[in-house]
Amino acid sequence: MADDEIARTGGDTIFGKIIRKEIPAKLVYEDDKCIAFPDISPQAPTHILVVPKKPIVQLSKAEEGDAALLGHLMMVAKKCAEQAGLSEGYRIVINDGADGGQTVFHLHVHVLGGRQLGWPPG
Ligand code: AMP
Repeated sequence: MADDEIARTGGDTIFGKIIRKEIPAKLVYEDDKCIAFPDISPQAPTHILVVPKKPIVQLSKAEEGDAALLGHLMMVAKKCAEQAGLSEGYRIVINDGADGGQTVFHLHVHVLGGRQLGWPPG
C-alpha cells in the first residue's frame, strides 16, 4: 500500500495518526493491512480495536472491493481474542454512524471479552 493511501483519504482521524505512528499506541498486532491495539476507554477486561490501514470511513461506506479486507479484519479479531486468552467467548462489534454510536469515523472492529457481556446492548 502506498504511503499516501495509508489512512489519509476520506478525512483523517486519531486512528490514522496511530497507524502512521504519529501518536503512540501499544500495538498487539500489525500486518500490511491492519493494526490492533487496546481501546483507551475499555468497556470490558479485554477491549481491543482492529483497524484497517485503508481509511474506510464506516462499514456502510465499504465497497464490494473491500470484501477480502473485511474478512481479514474478522480473522485478525479472532487471532487477537485467542492471543488475549478469551477461551470462554467474546463479542465483535462494529458501530456504524450516529445511531450505531460510532464516534471515530475510521472503520474499526471492537473485540470485547473477559466478563459475561449483556444483551441487548444499550
Ligand atoms: P466507536 O465509538 O465505535 O467509534 O469507537 C471508538 C473507540 O475508540 C472508543 O471505544 C474510544 O474509546 C476509542 N479511542 C478513541 N481514541 C483512542 C485512542 N487514542 N487510543 C485507543 N482507543 C481510542
